[in-house]
Amino acid sequence: MIISDDSVVSIDYILRSDSGEIIDSSAEGEPLVYLHGHEQIVPGLEAVLAGKQKGDALKVTVPPEHGYGDHDPDGVVRVPTSAMPMPEPEIGMELLIRSENGQEAPVRIVGVDAEHVTIDGNHPLAGKDLHFEVKVLDVRAATAEELAHGHVHGPGGHH
Ligand code: ZN
Repeated sequence: MIISDDSVVSIDYILRSDSGEIIDSSAEGEPLVYLHGHEQIVPGLEAVLAGKQKGDALKVTVPPEHGYGDHDPDGVVRVPTSAMPMPEPEIGMELLIRSENGQEAPVRIVGVDAEHVTIDGNHPLAGKDLHFEVKVLDVRAATAEELAHGHVHGPGGHH
């Protein structure tokens, strides 16, 4: 069966940075299971998986515009340390901030000096090339119930 919209696809994947460092991967024996054509994985990876089938292996580099978008400099702000919720902010910490319209958004601390903290609201992978190594383990048609819910049921899915 060929991967197309509304296929339920199981993949093993490794995601590396430009330097070859592993950023993310599926766990041993626990493939990522997703519903194809429903924007559940990054668009650049979904596009190359279309037309593939069980047993196919591929390597693909997804540029930011087809991955997590460009890094937006406006998403980086310096705030006084006294405004932070924790007593000793450190680089790499993540927190939720509430914006003026009341929505909560995750941000990361990317800089700390004597009196200020720099926080970045961009996705950690924004602006980065994503080097994927993927193996297609299984492809099946989604059930009517899965399509109605918009997600996969069973192992690796909901319920
Ligand atoms: Zn469901």
